[in-house]
This record gives sequence, structure tokens and C-alpha cells, in this order.
Amino acid sequence: MNNKEIIKFIRHTYKTKDFIPLHSPLFLGNEKKYVMETIDSTFVSSVGAYVDKAESMMMEINQTKKAVAVVNGTSGLQVALQLVGVKRNEEVITQALTFVATANAIHYTGAEPVFLDVDYDTMGLSPKAVQLFLENYAEKRENGTFNKKTGKRIAACMPMHTFGFPVHLDELIKVCDRWDIPIVEDAAESLGSYYKNKPTGSFGKMGVFSFNGNKVVTSGGGGMIVTNDLDLGQQAKHKTTTAKVPHPYEYVHDQIGYNFRMPNLNAALLCAQLEQLHGFIENKRELAKSYTYFFANQGIKFREELNNTKANYWLMCLELEDIKERNAFLKETNDNNVMTRPIWQLMYRLPMYQHCFRDQQKNAEFLEQRIVNIPSSVRL
Ligand SMILES: *Cc1c(COP(=O)(O)O)cnc(C)c1O
Repeated sequence: MNNKEIIKFIRHTYKTKDFIPLHSPLFLGNEKKYVMETIDSTFVSSVGAYVDKAESMMMEINQTKKAVAVVNGTSGLQVALQLVGVKRNEEVITQALTFVATANAIHYTGAEPVFLDVDYDTMGLSPKAVQLFLENYAEKRENGTFNKKTGKRIAACMPMHTFGFPVHLDELIKVCDRWDIPIVEDAAESLGSYYKNKPTGSFGKMGVFSFNGNKVVTSGGGGMIVTNDLDLGQQAKHKTTTAKVPHPYEYVHDQIGYNFRMPNLNAALLCAQLEQLHGFIENKRELAKSYTYFFANQGIKFREELNNTKANYWLMCLELEDIKERNAFLKETNDNNVMTRPIWQLMYRLPMYQHCFRDQQKNAEFLEQRIVNIPSSVRL
């Protein structure tokens, strides 16, 4: 494997001798105009037209009946889990191969993550691993599905669409339906990705996106909960806006809510970014195409979208031969100002999640040693 050739190709691709980041935002549209409008109008905070507009745009993009703008993706995941019924001392199935926010959001609800393996091809939660776990450990009772070993209710399943590659949703939904376990999709990385012509995030009872600065589009910081269940959608809005009962002047709150609303200032930036989402993704897909050609010639595995899916190619990745080759690649590229990064450490290696249940993790551990991200920004 010739790291020098790779660095040369990436530099040629981005047409620069300067530092090349993994993923940087681009502001090419109405960003300044919309943000200035909020300042001129003084509506920069929790009330304003851009919040409503961003929510409408997300309903359209994701083909859902409701979208609720929140302060970041992590808070969105927490509230979505709570709304599908996750409570203290229950369990939530997820993958260990993910960004830490997935596990943290579960912890914030008072529940425990159960880490199951990913599929080799999608790098996301494996329906087979979920099925095996449930067959071995679960028992259906009158008030839910319970883990026979721990006695805890298995309250939800949260798959994550790694780097924008959709998990095997049909199979996962089939297993979870059989056990009456609601799905909350961590779609933080997969805005604009499709599974069988339907947007990721719209399959589960709820789905959650992130607009952090490194995602496909950004609001500075922000997130969005989407759902086709209007009642759950209403509740999401209520819970994330201090649970205030509408009234012209009285302060009445009917439960403990959160101040998780997205400020209008951020929503303005988001609207301008969402207008460019399609173009950004087409641009990234072109880059993925040229990476595909180049790496095929080099005999290196570049990860492509699977049949029946369309990936947003948020972060593009290579699967290297082994950890030695990976380490050499990471060192040489970063030493040469081309940013690359290994995939995340598995959640059960982190001190706060070491005690959590996990299965075999054969694929997760294989991928952990071999997957690296390469520069994936939209090119001008
Ligand atoms: C980015 C991300 C989040 C959280 O998003 P924030 O907006 O940064 O809170 C959650 N899950 C995954 C997998 C992510 O990549």
C-alpha cells in the first residue's frame, strides 16, 4: 500500500497544498442573509419563523409528519428514547461501534445500553445479533419484553447508520416488531441517506438528526427529532420547550420539561444549509466515485453504498488490511497535513461503559482495527 500515492491523489482531488480537514462546513447560499435577518428582527432566541421553517423543510426532506428542532442531536436522542417509553433501570439495545453520544443519550434516561454486534457490510446494528440476543435472553410478559437474566425491561432499540450507510432496516424492523420493541434511529450521520427509496430516520417510531459543525449540513449546533406519529411529535415539541401550556401570559407547566429548543439564530443557518443539502450530497457522491476508481486501482477497499440503499457519504472510509497498516496510514497522512482518523473505540472500552452487557462483537472488533475515515468535505 502506497501512502504517498494516496496523499498525492487526495491533494489532487482537493486542489490544495494546505491542510485538508476530514469534513469542513461550506456556506455558499443564504446563510448570511437569513442569520442577519434574525439579528435585524431581534428574534435570535427561542421564538422565530426560522425554527418553523427548518422543521417544515425537515418534514419534507425526511417524509415525516412531524419534525421538532432541538439544541443538539444528543438531547434529541434522549427525549426520543423517553417518549417511546424508556425509563430508569431499563435496557436499550444499541451497537458498541458508534460515537459516544448514542450511549450517553441512553444513560441520560437512566437506562443501560446493551451492546450488540454490527454487520460487516453496513457497520451498523446487526438484525441477526439482535435476534440472537432476544432469543437467548428475552421473554415477553404482559407489560413488555424483559431480559430474563437481569429482570429489566428491554425498552427500545437504537440502531445507528454509521457514516451515512443505512443498517438492514427491513430485517431489524421485523425482529423488533416480533418482540414489540420500539426503534429510535440514531440518524445523526445519515441525513439524506435512503434505504429502499425511503429516508433513514423515517423508519423507526422516532428518528434523530444532528447538525453539529462536522455533519453533512450544520446549524452551528442543533438537532431534529422526526416521527410519523403526530401525538409523539406533539409530545416531543412540548417536552423540549419546558412543557409550557400555551397561554397568553401565565406560566403553566404540566410536567418536567427541558429547555432543548433550537434558537432561531441557529435555525436560520440551518434553513440556508438545508437548501443546499441535495447539491452537497451530489458533490460528495462525485467524490466517492473518484475515490472508488482510484482505490480499486490501488487494491484498497473503499466502502461503497450497498444495493437498495443510497448513502449520503458523510464520512468516507477505507478498510485496511490490519492494524499495522492502519497505524502507518494514519501517521503518514496526518504527518503530511491530510487529516484521517480511525473509527471510534468500541463503547465497552470506555471506563463508564465497561460494565455493560455485550455479545461476541466479532464484526465490531474487526472493523475497529481496520476502518479509517478520509477527507470527505464538499469540494468547491
Ligand atoms: C453527531 C452524532 C450525535 C450527536 O450529535 P450532537 O448534535 O453533536 O449532539 C449522535 N450520534 C452520532 C452517531 C453522531 O455521529
